[in-house]
Amino acid sequence: MPENTGPKTAEHRAEDATVQTAYSRFIRHTQACAECRIQGMDCAEASELRWVYRSAKRRAGEVR
Ligand SMILES: [Zn+2]
Repeated sequence: MPENTGPKTAEHRAEDATVQTAYSRFIRHTQACAECRIQGMDCAEASELRWVYRSAKRRAGEVR
């Protein structure tokens, strides 16, 4: 990976980390939450975590 420490790259890295953190929190929740696992759909908390993740992803300008 080429060394690039410009402000834009640093900003992007911060946004990417936010996306990863939000995604991890969502996944961890769905794995630990009985409601999510049994019903196979998002409970209120999962919906919120998913929203946070999607918002962060949109800010990072990434479509996955
Ligand atoms: Zn849940």
